[in-house]
Amino acid sequence: MPEVILPGGTGAQLTERYGHAVMNTFGPPKRVFTRGEGCYVWDVDGNRYLDLLAGIAVNALGHAHPQVLGAITAQLSTLGHVSNFFATPAQIALAEQLTAMVTGDADAGAKVFFTNSGTEANEAAFKLTRRTGRTGIVAMEGCFHGRSMGALALTHTAKYREPFEPLPGHVTWVPFGDVAALEAAVDDTVAAVLVEPIQGEAGVIVPPDGFLADAQRIAHDHGALLWLDEVQSGMGRTGHWLAAQHDGVVPDVVTLAKGLGNGFPIGACVATGEAADLLQPGSHGTTFGGNPVAAVAALAVIQIIQREGLLEHVTAMGEHFRAAVEALGHPRIKEVRGRGLLRAIVLTDEVAPAAYDRAMDLGFVINAPRPHVLRVAPPLVITADQLDTFVAALPTILEGTPA
Ligand SMILES: *Cc1c(COP(=O)(O)O)cnc(C)c1O
Repeated sequence: MPEVILPGGTGAQLTERYGHAVMNTFGPPKRVFTRGEGCYVWDVDGNRYLDLLAGIAVNALGHAHPQVLGAITAQLSTLGHVSNFFATPAQIALAEQLTAMVTGDADAGAKVFFTNSGTEANEAAFKLTRRTGRTGIVAMEGCFHGRSMGALALTHTAKYREPFEPLPGHVTWVPFGDVAALEAAVDDTVAAVLVEPIQGEAGVIVPPDGFLADAQRIAHDHGALLWLDEVQSGMGRTGHWLAAQHDGVVPDVVTLAKGLGNGFPIGACVATGEAADLLQPGSHGTTFGGNPVAAVAALAVIQIIQREGLLEHVTAMGEHFRAAVEALGHPRIKEVRGRGLLRAIVLTDEVAPAAYDRAMDLGFVINAPRPHVLRVAPPLVITADQLDTFVAALPTILEGTPA
């Protein structure tokens, strides 16, 4: 069988072609990657990198995981797509797994709407909140929920939002982690309080202990829903299935995506209790969402995380990483924050973009979500030895950055 023909050439040549053919929404790509295996990726020029970003907290089991690959290929060669006029065993099994994961009880009455991305999961949740008969949303300063018009309406940063107005209204923001401000902002017109249990794009910011429980209490006191965006923090990334489980909080609505399909696009909006029945026939829809191939990818991810005890591994590796970076005692490193394998190295100066470039040159994929923050979100299967190679290179990465 003839294979698809892909362009040859060097990284520089391909990047040039990219610039002519792909819209410039992301800036020039740092590298052109051609292959991945486990925690490593290779660029088109043959250089190997330890992937400490995992496609932004996506490739939970690393690249080309044989069992995920096996599940996807088996499903694709049996039945690839049917639309949501029909059901498949894979989709039903995944919905059951996710509802059990969120509530801790397969019979708790939670329900799932499947999507293809985190943004779409948030769109579904946003529409769901409107079915309460209320319109207000109280979200957090510094939040990130995606790029669609709905998700943008939820975004606090004015420079992202204002060029695209008018957007859906009745959204207000309070400082992340500020209980008194939240108390003051929530009244009986509010449909939902929306929180990322760890703010990823803002630079891996963990709220004060007890904040999620306070947010839930405040929301429920006013008959509003607690909606958690766990697109980045969920699916085992912090050592629990959901980051909210650190605080013992079960949300009314939770959105998932990134790590769910190990790179196969899939998202989910999971609602519990009465919220599970707010969307009804005609309320919402999707052609691809919950496609059986995406569903088996997610089922494989969940089963492998369970079978290999990866939640415990994530907790252990996260602690190992934090301790190892702190032990460097480097004058440029202010702190290591985050949980499990969602970590930020906070720098004393705004040199993260330069450090990011230097890390790439030394064979490590990380990124810089803020000018003074390096983010590390590696595959959940990463080993202590692999993390240690990066920690050993950190002084060189940081010393090479301009003062
Ligand atoms: C990445 C992200 C999104 C958007 O997900 P996409 O799959 O890029 O649409 C939404 N919320 C959070 C918290 C995210 O990190």
